[in-house]
Parts: sequence; structure tokens; C-alpha cells
Amino acid sequence: MKLPIAYEDLKALLFERKLIAAPDWNSAEKNASRRRRGIEEVLIERGFFTETFLFELIAQALKTPYVNLRAVKIDDAVFRLLPEQTAQETHCIAFGVSSVKKDTLKMATLNPRDEQALAAVQAALKRQCEWYLMNERSYRYALKLYTTDIKEGLLRIVNEYIQNAQSGVQGGYDVPVVKIFDTILEYAMLEQSSDIHIEPLADAVLIRFRIDGDLQDKIELPINFKDALIARIKILSNLKIDEHRVPQDGRLAFMMDEAEESARVSVIPTLYGEKVVLRLLSDDVQNLSLQDIGLTKRNLDLAMKSIRKPFGMILVVGPTGSGKTTTLYAVLNILNTEDVNISTIEDPIEYGIRRVNQTQVNTVAGYTFASGLRSLLRQDPDIIMIGEIRDGETAQIAVRAALTGHLVLSTLHTNNAAGAIPRLLDMEVEPFLVASTVNVVIAQRLVRRICIECITTYHLASTVIKALAKEYDLRAILERMQELGVIDKSVAHFTDLPFYKGKGCARCHHTGYLGRIGVMEVLVNTHAIQQATIKHMSSEDFEAIALQENMVPIFDDALQKALLGVTTLEEVLRISRE
Ligand SMILES: [Zn+2]
Repeated sequence: MKLPIAYEDLKALLFERKLIAAPDWNSAEKNASRRRRGIEEVLIERGFFTETFLFELIAQALKTPYVNLRAVKIDDAVFRLLPEQTAQETHCIAFGVSSVKKDTLKMATLNPRDEQALAAVQAALKRQCEWYLMNERSYRYALKLYTTDIKEGLLRIVNEYIQNAQSGVQGGYDVPVVKIFDTILEYAMLEQSSDIHIEPLADAVLIRFRIDGDLQDKIELPINFKDALIARIKILSNLKIDEHRVPQDGRLAFMMDEAEESARVSVIPTLYGEKVVLRLLSDDVQNLSLQDIGLTKRNLDLAMKSIRKPFGMILVVGPTGSGKTTTLYAVLNILNTEDVNISTIEDPIEYGIRRVNQTQVNTVAGYTFASGLRSLLRQDPDIIMIGEIRDGETAQIAVRAALTGHLVLSTLHTNNAAGAIPRLLDMEVEPFLVASTVNVVIAQRLVRRICIECITTYHLASTVIKALAKEYDLRAILERMQELGVIDKSVAHFTDLPFYKGKGCARCHHTGYLGRIGVMEVLVNTHAIQQATIKHMSSEDFEAIALQENMVPIFDDALQKALLGVTTLEEVLRISRE
């Protein structure tokens, strides 16, 4: 990341606003120099502030307003006034017309202090300019807008085909369709789409991309390309080409910029033919770390100790849709080294992981969690991942496997960490077996993340605090947050706490939220927990013991994330009331 101010100025700015304390700055500085990164990147990573917040701060210091080009509507005519080459040489982008003076252009720059560049732009445009500060992400995004769009790319291929056909060159739709499909994939990746929809209409094939949660029309292709395009996708995804009446699911692997990418493919018959949806699975899950999904340093250290044990059970619990599987994949990523054999039985396989033997439950073929697990155990595994433990039979085999030197990862459907062990006991696994096999239980929920483009801070109104006090012991909460080091010891009242929310912007579709993150609690199987297991105590008892043993409950983990500007107080209250 390049900043338009010197480090000393940045430091002065942050200290002046009391945004950081000296020890935190020094520790970040050391870390940054060791990793050859900018200190601002480390501070953002450590959650002191977001990139947008930092740029707004710098913009204030430079007395130049900040603009996020991804969130504003760029006026295409104005944009093209500045030639691409000039934009690259000067690091400036033209994006609109001043709302005050109609002959003045709105210009964004990476560095408002680069007077030479600004003068060059003004000379090239022969117009007055109103300057804004942008960050590199905005700049790179805007540069991409100079290149031709998908529509032009695809139309060129289609027209080439039509011309060839007219001039008598023989050939079916196969060759252009290969190019068309590659182009669709390329643009979908470029635009960071999550899904590609290929939909047959009565007279055309509609291509749509889902970008940041929004489905956008890209182009309508001539209907003649429909069958060849669908056949091409089916071949690449190992689906039956001649089957048109039933839905089919498959996977597709492809190379993009020398990296292997994959997509989940779903085909269903509709009125005008088969409709295909491709869910692009970025390799994110391969690089997913436990910090990414929301484990704090403290919880991470606890979890890692248990994950590194050669055998035993690692359980992730939570209701449906709480992100349990993603957490298991992140744990598998850590364990996936050359010297181990990892086998899984899942329902369904959500992501492919290199060098892991993944199998999928197939009830029709008699391959259930229990029978599959028995087969896997004959495959000399070191580590086994079971998608979910739903019944006593699976639970018993899993516990036996953990006891005989395997590391077993699985999920359970319970609301909190304290409920996991009683659930296993209810499935009639011997208490002493559970006591000696479970290493750790991670319970989690998902909360919405505040949009980093429009985040803002506020203090709670006294009426809100009064209402909260009826439901929660606010003094105790303050003390716990102080113990966790999230807030300063000097904070005496809830009114002093900064909370955060998104104002709403184009990027987050005016919701104030963008993406989600896990909030969790980590229960380690300590001696006291083992004793409770053998006595077959209730989940309330387990909760009380775990808290005595210093487990940070999910509520506190969520509140900590709210106080750090990751999520809102509303989200914390939502999960606590569920
Ligand atoms: Zn926003």
C-alpha cells in the first residue's frame, strides 16, 4: 500500500488522535519491518482501523476529500476525457463533474502533493479540476474500466463466426463456444463474481454475473449458441450430455492466470432449455486461516494446542448455517502436510482440497457416515474428517477411531460449546471414552461484518443503555472487556464506549454490511471438564465450569468484535437472543 504522507506524519496523526498507543505502534513497526510490509498494513490487519478509515484520516490531514471510486457512479464520458496513458503516468482518474461549477471536473489522485502530476493533468484536460484523494484499490479498479468489456469481447467472437459462415468457412458452433466460455470465465473472475448464470430465454441465452451479492445482466448471446455452450460446460464438468430432463450437479476445474480455479456446476431443466449456474470457488478456502474466520489470538492459541495433538477429537458446533464446515476446512488446511493421510466423509463435499481424500455420503448406495467411516478406517488414515455426527453409531465409531490414534474432526448440531459433550453422552458413548478423546470444542455463529467503505463510529444514547441494562449486567460486561484488554481500564460507563456501524453506500447496497465473520467460544477439555463428563453433568454445569476455566463466551467474543469495529452491537444482540 502506498500512502501519500510520510511515516512520521502518519505516526504523528495517529498519536495526536489517540488512535494508537506507543507499545502497539512499536510492536506493529517491528512486525512490519520483519515482513517487509507497510506499518499501516499491519495496523489494519491487527484491527486498529480499516483502510477506509485510514484514508479518510489522511484526506483530512491533506485537506483533500477522500473518494472511493468503487462506491461512486463514474461518469463514463468524463472518465474517458483523460487518456489511459496519462492516467497511468500521473496516477489520476477523472470521475465526474463538480456539482458546484459545471466546467470543473472531479479528479481523483493517489497523491494530492504531487504537484507536477496534477499540473500535467490540468494541462492535458484544459479544465479546472476539483481534487480528491483515492487509495490504490480505487485506482486499480478504475484502470480496469479502460479495457474493453465482456460485451465487446463476446460480440467479437460471435461476429467472427457469423462472417466465417457467410464467407463459406465450414464449422459448427464448437470452436467459437470454447472461446465464448473461456471469455465468460475470464470476465467473471476479473469482476470478482461469485456466480455465473447462463439462462435460456425464448430467443437468446442470457449471461448474468453475481457481483457483491447483486445479479447483473452481462450479455444476451444468439440462441444458436445455446446447445453447444451447455454441452461444453457439461463435458468440462463430467455431466451427462444427453440428459436434459433431470437436474445435474458437477464440478469444473480450469486454469486462470496460471492458477487452478474451480467452480460448482448446477444444471436444471427450465421451460426454454437447461439453465446453468456456476458457483466460482476461489482458492480462498485453500488459504483460509483460522484468523480469517474470526478466531481471536487468545482462542487461536487455545485451539492450536488441541489441533496439534496427534489424536483425539476436534468438534465444531453451532446451528445450521453457522459456518462450521468452513472452520473444519481451515483446520484441515493447517493439518494438511506431506507426511499425513487425510480422509473425509462429507455430505456434500463443499470444497476440493489438494492431497485430501474426500468422499461423499451416498445413502442410495449404502455409503452413510457410519459405513463410510468404517471403510475410511481401513485406508490407513492419520486424520479423519466427518461432516457431521448425527447418530449414536457414527459417534461410537468416531470416538473409537480417536482413541486408537487418529485425529478426528467433526461437527455437532448443538447451540453452544457446553452442549457438545452432553450430546455425545446422549448418543450413548461411554462417558470415560468421551472424557479421554475430546480435545477441544469450538462453538460458533456468523455475524455480519460492517462495510469497510462506509464505516462510522457513534456512542450509545442513554435510552438505549437503559434498555440494555434491563437485560444485561453492563458493569460485569465492562469488567470482562477490560480483562480481555479490549477497552481501557479507565472506561467507567457504557456511554464512553465507541460502537460502529455502516452508513450505507453503493458498495454494500446501502445495508451497511459486507460479508460475514465467525464469533466463537473455545472449550478445552480440562481436568474439570473431564470430571464433569464422567459424572454425566448437564450442559448448564459444563457452561459454568468452562467459564470458571476462563472460556470467553460467544457473547463476549462478539462484543469484542463490535468494540473493534468488525460488527455492530445489533448483530451481537441478535445472536445472544437467538
Ligand atoms: Zn457501505
